[in-house]
Amino acid sequence: MNLMVFGAPGVGKGTQAKFLMEEYNIPQISTGDMLRAAVDDKTDIGIEAKKIMDKGGLVPDSVIIEIIKNRLSKTDCKKGFILDGFPRTLLQAEVLKELMDNMKMELDKVISLNVPDKLIIERINGRRVCLDCGASFHVEFNSSKVKGICDYCSGKLIIRDDDDIETVKSRLQTYHKQTSPLIAFYTNMGVMLNLDGTKNVKQVKEDMFKALVKFQ
Ligand code: AMP
Repeated sequence: MNLMVFGAPGVGKGTQAKFLMEEYNIPQISTGDMLRAAVDDKTDIGIEAKKIMDKGGLVPDSVIIEIIKNRLSKTDCKKGFILDGFPRTLLQAEVLKELMDNMKMELDKVISLNVPDKLIIERINGRRVCLDCGASFHVEFNSSKVKGICDYCSGKLIIRDDDDIETVKSRLQTYHKQTSPLIAFYTNMGVMLNLDGTKNVKQVKEDMFKALVKFQ
């Protein structure tokens, strides 16, 4: 199954992607996580990307497309994958379509999580992410079993550098300008599955699996 989780920053894409990964045993491909790994490794791409990420902008399409091309060609993607945070521009979506056509793959569903900006800004305040595996938690709405420790890999939970209010506002602006046109793109492809992302994590998870079972 080839899936995508879609939505503005902070809607819970990463959280729901982890549930999909566990259920279907296919990899989660998060361009944000890959870029953060490059930042930590201080690679040339990482150093350039960090400046853009800290301002809430988008890393150039050419860089992201190269990263995705490499990742999708790995053998673990043969049985399916979950895209998280990619694509974010029309060009990225078009290249993905071409890439998947060439690999004789189809995008089965785009799971779109819908949450108003005001609630995203409220929620992002308590977000914590795992330094090692990128899993997301929330101190109030989706807390880890042990405070400060990741449920999945026991990594350390931290506050992301770009989760401060001003950067989040800028990331939301970027989303509305550059990424939201993809809603029409995937609606026209007939693969969009719209979910109410304002519900709690467990309810969204239930809605998502119910909707996916219907389609299978
Ligand atoms: P995320 O973890 O998905 O919220 O991504 C964090 C940051 O990484 C974003 O705010 C962008 O600066 C950058 N980024 C991640 N994915 C992409 C993408 N597909 N295209 C451009 N920039 C991206």
